[in-house]
Amino acid sequence: MKSLIAGNWKMNGIGQARVEIESLIERFGGSMPGDRDILICPPATILRDFARSYSDEGIQFGGQDCHANTSGAHTGDISAEMIADTGASHVIVGHSERRADHGESDEIVKAKANAALRAGLTPIICVGETREQREAGIAQSVVGTQLEGSLPDAAGVFVVAYEPVWAIGTGLTPTIQDIAEMHDFIRAKTPESTRLLYGGSVKPGNAQEILAISNVNGALVGGASLKADDFFPIINAAP
Ligand code: 13P
Repeated sequence: MKSLIAGNWKMNGIGQARVEIESLIERFGGSMPGDRDILICPPATILRDFARSYSDEGIQFGGQDCHANTSGAHTGDISAEMIADTGASHVIVGHSERRADHGESDEIVKAKANAALRAGLTPIICVGETREQREAGIAQSVVGTQLEGSLPDAAGVFVVAYEPVWAIGTGLTPTIQDIAEMHDFIRAKTPESTRLLYGGSVKPGNAQEILAISNVNGALVGGASLKADDFFPIINAAP
């Protein structure tokens, strides 16, 4: 399966963003390699600009969230159709920061994933346990419940990102065996063609080992996607 290396810029991306993205393209000799998919999810304010400027160089773009409805009285929200209209191809839904900061339930995440498919986008549905849940030995049952509640019921291609909450932005990662076990578990609950990404403190130093795991089909990278110096070796580490 073709790897997908995705960068989630979160609420970052003013100032150096253009310089970093141009530096990344330059390192690949002017256009990105075609044997893996490279996706960047910048803040919504620069999504259209970046999608138009850099799609020809082989980078795909995505949103970080969408509303479940197409349009209407939802101040501050952005619909999946609006994200598709920027030229984006993907949208992240159910990131643990959205689940925590905005109280998003599995039911809401499912509605957003359905909305993404309705708009012609590929949703990247995030799941993952907290530190307490892993220590209590219930990581798989937590992720299983999230999958049951959050996966779309509309037909279409989606991606699942396993992001243990305690590994995000901490420099901590599960062991290779723990990642492999969770990805095997998720694989058994998703269509065979679904790409499964690992996310949580993916860095140049651990990318190769993580991306070599059999049911890991790519990575969802936060902090290390902001700098070309870090993102370039991670993309190159993909099989
Ligand atoms: P970090 O790579 O900064 O740990 O973030 C992971 C993440 O949340 C990607 O969505």
